[in-house]
Amino acid sequence: MLSLLLALLQPSPDVAHLDALAKARDVAGLAEIASADLSRDREPFAFLAREGVFGVGRFGWRALELRVPGRPEAFVVFSTPLTSQDIGEQLFELREGRLVRYVPETETLGHRILHHRIDVRFEVEAKRARLENVLDLERAPGAPDLLVMRMSPNYRVKRLERDGKAMPFGQAGGVVAVNPEGWPRRFSLRLEYEATVDLPDYAGSITPDEAMLTNDYWYPMIGRLPATHSVRVTAPEGWTVVAQGEPKGREGNVWSFDMTLPAVYFSLSAARLEEHQETIDGRSYAVWSPVMSREMMRRQVRHNVPVLQFYERTFGAYPFSRWGALESKVYGSGALEAYSHATYGVGWLPDEDAHEPAHTWWGGRIANTYLRSFWNESFAEFSEGLYRREAPIGNREERRRAFIRDAEPRGLFATAPLVSSGAEIGRAAGSLGYEKGAMVLQMLEAEMGTEALTSAMRHWVETHPAGVPGEWEDFERVVLSREGERWRTFFDHWLRRTDWIDVSLEEARWAGEAVEARFVWQGRPFQTGIEALLIFPDGTRQLRTVTLDADGKVTVPAARKPERISFDPWRRLLRRYGRDETPVQLDVFLRNARVYRDPAKPDWTGPAGRQTRIQELPESLDGVLIVGSPDTTPRMRELCRRVGFEVAGDRLTYRGTTIDLRQGAAMAVVDLEGGGRAAIALGRTDGRPQMGRARLVLVDDLGRFLRGYTEPKTSGFLTADIP
Ligand SMILES: [Zn+2]
Repeated sequence: MLSLLLALLQPSPDVAHLDALAKARDVAGLAEIASADLSRDREPFAFLAREGVFGVGRFGWRALELRVPGRPEAFVVFSTPLTSQDIGEQLFELREGRLVRYVPETETLGHRILHHRIDVRFEVEAKRARLENVLDLERAPGAPDLLVMRMSPNYRVKRLERDGKAMPFGQAGGVVAVNPEGWPRRFSLRLEYEATVDLPDYAGSITPDEAMLTNDYWYPMIGRLPATHSVRVTAPEGWTVVAQGEPKGREGNVWSFDMTLPAVYFSLSAARLEEHQETIDGRSYAVWSPVMSREMMRRQVRHNVPVLQFYERTFGAYPFSRWGALESKVYGSGALEAYSHATYGVGWLPDEDAHEPAHTWWGGRIANTYLRSFWNESFAEFSEGLYRREAPIGNREERRRAFIRDAEPRGLFATAPLVSSGAEIGRAAGSLGYEKGAMVLQMLEAEMGTEALTSAMRHWVETHPAGVPGEWEDFERVVLSREGERWRTFFDHWLRRTDWIDVSLEEARWAGEAVEARFVWQGRPFQTGIEALLIFPDGTRQLRTVTLDADGKVTVPAARKPERISFDPWRRLLRRYGRDETPVQLDVFLRNARVYRDPAKPDWTGPAGRQTRIQELPESLDGVLIVGSPDTTPRMRELCRRVGFEVAGDRLTYRGTTIDLRQGAAMAVVDLEGGGRAAIALGRTDGRPQMGRARLVLVDDLGRFLRGYTEPKTSGFLTADIP
């Protein structure tokens, strides 16, 4: 029996050939070996040719034979080192030398993992993790006698037990399979497995100071369906363990956590870390870092508190007693949500990050597989924008204008509709998830109103069944049921089409009691609300919302004749943008500015960025940013006056708001008398100043927006004089 099994594990000549084709990324060669059915139905081997959205495939592919003891079929696993939230191992059935069937990761084959009890130990010097995991599973009536689980391929299963008895199983790459014939509806499996964990800046990594399993699949999954887990970690002496869910105490070096919110993506770190904890309004806030000072950690808590409180008020209860921000030396340049904390690469924090905390609701309370779409990235991005617009810090009306997100389409949007934009489409999945979907939600907010949209989002969180991944269509159903069928067109257009609004404004004329405008569709028409800003000769303005549809004719009521009209003045429609429609913005000005720093104010920070430094102020200040004070740089006086900054020593006042320039800053673009523009920056902050689209901002010591002035578009694309 044993020798027969070993014989089966020898790669057959067929698989060796497949392996050569996989290594060569020979899509055409593999398609020739595929059955006609397989080649017809899908682009079966496209994964070989493109790098995944988070880089899966960059280390090359292998083809490995998978045999499942007690099963007649042969399988092939196309395997590559994995990182999370991207595509996984690719599984095919092999028959008589042909690939005859694709088993997508969404295919559960009637099995489901409900809970993991995991025990983790590290051998730091060997970069190894050793794990035991008792899985509770469920088997649907009539499920095939084939149980397929997927992990990262570096995790090798040493033993698989049921009821204390070792079970024969097969593993190839990260696919582990067993024949569950005759097993009951509910059962448990105990797995012993281990891995070399050494993919820094990509997936898990173990170094002399840190063991991070985050971004590995260090636990088996079926269909990327969410499951609860508890974990016990034996950490090296003096290390701190951060895992998901509630901390359940520690005995010596053994740390326990309980994650009762079913999740798809599990994070786990153990490292030499400094820890800072504060309790504010009944919630504990933690920061862990190998490098941050205590003072920086305190600042991070100050950033996190209003974010968590805002989301809780807006989207429903935060399900944990603690929120944490963890810095990791091996994480790389990004960040990853873990619902009760988030992991960041070193150097990011302190920061007012409102994206990762939003995932507690979008990805946590409602899970996402990432296999059909990145909808939850759209919701997290939208939530971040919503926080910036609605945060109870500074002037909310001014925030609302400053933090509208550009909605200019990217070419990648044409790749797929939002409802089918999962990881398998590659880089476009990221663009559709992080960009288009967030732009679509921002448009929905503009048309439906902030309150109606956020209460629909909250209702979705509160009514979505636990443990079931969400999709765009679920949110669509919630909105239609609450706000009515009239929103169906919106979702059809923006979830199921791959194009965007492409119009030109042909004419706008005064018709007695309204402006009548005519648009010409360059692409397929949409039906959409569109804002129109009426600009009157006395300088007053009125904003109206009208409907633009296939006939392109729009009537904008007005009591008197305006001199100009600007359509979509806040530039939030997902449409072709014109190159001439961006009003004056600080961020745009700073891209090409030359910066002069007042030597008397060496600690004033100015904006972030790599502007060219100049040592002396030139005759013309056009294109120059001055970081300085009117007390020591006299040419600042006139510039401050022009934008309404009154400066007295360390105090700056703008329209009734006074800030201390030792712990706050002000910046503005200034129109120069003889034409051209300069910019000024005064004060110091401990964080990057948040400016959004504003042309003038006041920020607090953390760089958070307090006051600002943001212009709508009044000239350029989609504006017209009214003759
Ligand atoms: Zn995210």
